[in-house]
Amino acid sequence: MNIHEYQAKELFRKFGVAVPEGFVAANGAEAEAAATKLGTPVVVVKAQVHAGGRGKAGGVKVVKSPAAAREAADALIGKNLVTFQTDAKGQPVNKVYVESGVDIARELYLAITLDRGQGRLVLMASTEGGMEIEEVAHSHPEKIFRETIDPALGLMPYQAQNIAFALGLKGDEIKNAIKFMMNLAKAYTDLDCAMIEINPLVITGQGGVMALDGKVSFDDNALFRHKDIAELNDTTQSDSREVEAAKYDLNYVGLEGEIGCMVNGAGLAMATMDVIKFAGSEPANFLDVGGGADEEKVTAALKIILGDPQVKGVLINIFGGIMKCDIIANGIVAACKTVNLSVPMVVRLEGTNVELGNDILAKSGLPIITANSLADGAAKIVAAIK
Ligand code: ADP
Ligand code: MG
Repeated sequence: MNIHEYQAKELFRKFGVAVPEGFVAANGAEAEAAATKLGTPVVVVKAQVHAGGRGKAGGVKVVKSPAAAREAADALIGKNLVTFQTDAKGQPVNKVYVESGVDIARELYLAITLDRGQGRLVLMASTEGGMEIEEVAHSHPEKIFRETIDPALGLMPYQAQNIAFALGLKGDEIKNAIKFMMNLAKAYTDLDCAMIEINPLVITGQGGVMALDGKVSFDDNALFRHKDIAELNDTTQSDSREVEAAKYDLNYVGLEGEIGCMVNGAGLAMATMDVIKFAGSEPANFLDVGGGADEEKVTAALKIILGDPQVKGVLINIFGGIMKCDIIANGIVAACKTVNLSVPMVVRLEGTNVELGNDILAKSGLPIITANSLADGAAKIVAAIK
């Protein structure tokens, strides 16, 4: 789960991670009031969307008066912001963050994430703040510094000091940076984050160290023990099909194609997408209903697939292992009776009680096309929509 910059900064404050002063605003009047309250000669009005690259896309506006802050907020709120990290439609801007303008001496990069290779957290820093880290990793790998965090010890002060030295910090900056990194590492573990990225981390003209941006994502598997964090979820920033799927614990990813897929098992779901492409079409989604999918889940999944105007046909590819094929077939038939089956549907069942399952589908009176292999199923659904 991702959160907005303003929410990340509120969490940072609680952990003693320095950030500029700022207030969130939902309209021009609130933005003007926020800028007045800040009282700084320069304020920055920042679109709150779940995407980076806002600065280059016009989503970060530097202004010099509360009236100008109102104007900037009015121009951003209610529109979609398209950045290089969004799709062509962009992300809706419902709020802006109004923040004090900071006197920036240097822009750096700092992140904590999980290094899956080592199975440990890693603190990463770079002198190239403001740039995409992937680009730095590609063109100047020597400019990225890393410290691996021992899970039993946590980040050690000497490791934070190593990073501060590598970044070329001096005097008070070192002390401030160490405190910043130690507190950030505590926030990461206490909140069960998946990633914290601060780009840029800035050194101010007075030697202060501050997070000017904050991208935080959480480990979904740990959200059950952070109810307050789970509440920060802003569903307007996600694909509406994915929001609906999440309610039923379905592993769903919306895609651009025309064949809606319902499959059990992530590997089988990926293979199904490949075979659809091979047969000359494109999948509208990835969907793994899981091993123990029951009628309720199958119905919910079908409703999401059929409610998608992009979908011109449905391919169901289920392996009956834990769940027997006759139970799956009954689930599909029951689900089709509650949703309006408005497009062709091909079902391929395999596994325990497959004959019984196909029999149930054949006798259901529904216009379901059965298939006896994955390739057969893909060919049949592609033919049916043409
Ligand atoms: P994004 O990464 O989405 O483009 P950032 O929060 O990193 O958004 O902002 C982009 C740039 O805008 C920063 O690199 C910085 O130069 C400038 N900026 C952002 N916030 C402030 C601020 N409070 N004071 C001064 N400059 C800022
Ligand atoms: Mg940034």
